Amino acid sequence: MIKYISTRGGGNPRSFTDVLLAGLAPDGGLYVPDRWPQFDHGLLDHLHGLRYTEVAMQVLTPFIGDAISKEDLQRIIDETYCTEIFDHSSIAPLTQVGPNAWILELFRGPTLSFKDYAMQLLGRLFDHVLEQKGERITIVGATSGDTGSAAIEACKGCKHIDIFILHPQGRTSEVQRRQMTTVDAPNVHNIALEGTFDDCQAIVKALFGDQKLREDLNLSAVNSINWARIMAQTVYYFVASLALGAPGRPVSFTVPTGNFGNVFAGYAARRMGLPIHRLGIATNRNDILTRFFETGEMKIDKVMPSLSPSMDIQISSNFERYLYDLMDHDSAALTKTMEEFKTRRVFKIGDNLMNKARAEFTANRCSDLDTMAMMKSCYAQTGILIDPHTAVALHGATDMMEQDPAVPMIVLACAHPSKFPQAVQQAVGIKPPAVPRLMDVMQKAEHYTALPNDVEKIKDFVLGNVSR
Ligand SMILES: *Cc1c(COP(=O)(O)O)cnc(C)c1O
Repeated sequence: MIKYISTRGGGNPRSFTDVLLAGLAPDGGLYVPDRWPQFDHGLLDHLHGLRYTEVAMQVLTPFIGDAISKEDLQRIIDETYCTEIFDHSSIAPLTQVGPNAWILELFRGPTLSFKDYAMQLLGRLFDHVLEQKGERITIVGATSGDTGSAAIEACKGCKHIDIFILHPQGRTSEVQRRQMTTVDAPNVHNIALEGTFDDCQAIVKALFGDQKLREDLNLSAVNSINWARIMAQTVYYFVASLALGAPGRPVSFTVPTGNFGNVFAGYAARRMGLPIHRLGIATNRNDILTRFFETGEMKIDKVMPSLSPSMDIQISSNFERYLYDLMDHDSAALTKTMEEFKTRRVFKIGDNLMNKARAEFTANRCSDLDTMAMMKSCYAQTGILIDPHTAVALHGATDMMEQDPAVPMIVLACAHPSKFPQAVQQAVGIKPPAVPRLMDVMQKAEHYTALPNDVEKIKDFVLGNVSR
């Protein structure tokens, strides 16, 4: 059975339940499976024509092992990937945008970003294992937009979870704020912090650093370093590849990325035997990953605002998982590299390893101007409106499509265009059509508490509102 180990090499191997609840490993590392389940040609052939829920069951079972019974897991998967939650019967439909190019529509969930695909499962997995253990947890997180709303939507019905999400007051878009604040549930608490996103993150970090609070409230995180999110995201790589002819015909993917979470899920699918030809990393002007693949140097720069704000990130927190593989599971060397990165904000990888990395990923950057041009030309050529993040990825896919015209290219469409109406309007000249789910959000009453940028005040608020 698969166990999980920390990339930094500390502690004993852990079960799925442990890593689900823990998030980060105690030694500061990230949990990775001790081996990849294998799907050979024959097994993949058997997955042809199956529904999303059936593929999910096959792909997720080896990762979960005996932590959850088969019946319970199937029920949780069926309750997650259904048309009450996702608004298309195939859950993650493919739409053709070129002679051999498709977008994978990962914006069919309640908050219209791909984060729903993992978060909706996570909320239900959490509630199930907490029920079994007779425990409660308190989730505390900071958000600049999409993560917070996806987490709140996923946790609002959970019996064993209280969730507190901090957002920087006045600094998220109205749609993004309303997606969080219009959820009216006794276990959901929105805090509008009088500060920046960095201030929100600093406060969350301080709360987690408070040992007593952490233990008293069973604090937990749902950020993208949680292994279960990566695991859940591998499923749509399988589903999309199978739809276009895998395993007989390999396909390529291009992924708009910031934290390296979504693209690492694609890498994981490839390690599990899915024949993925090229795996494209698409960044905006915050191009730390693209610079890394060009120079071998991972170097933190200043975060700059862009038209694709969910990728305005300079530290790709999931990259450590890939580095662990690249460095051949040498935890000591990896720990040294990550410590160097923390103190000097830069590390360098030698040519040998970089050659290997460049064979596995193709990285591209996209300016705001090119993002706009891509939204415009996609609409002109296909009549399809895409959001700025999808445009960054489609731009990044262009060279690969020219090099390998016979290989189908799947571009991950991670957000619905109506989530970014200004950018779409500016680029294409038309307003994205209103989505019923968003119209709802624009009407409903908001629930949030504005609080000063002060750890003690936030702590008091959490203690005063947690249900126990
Ligand atoms: C979160 C997000 C991303 C970045 O995903 P990572 O897993 O952090 O790489 C890209 N696009 C959209 C729309 C997002 O919400």
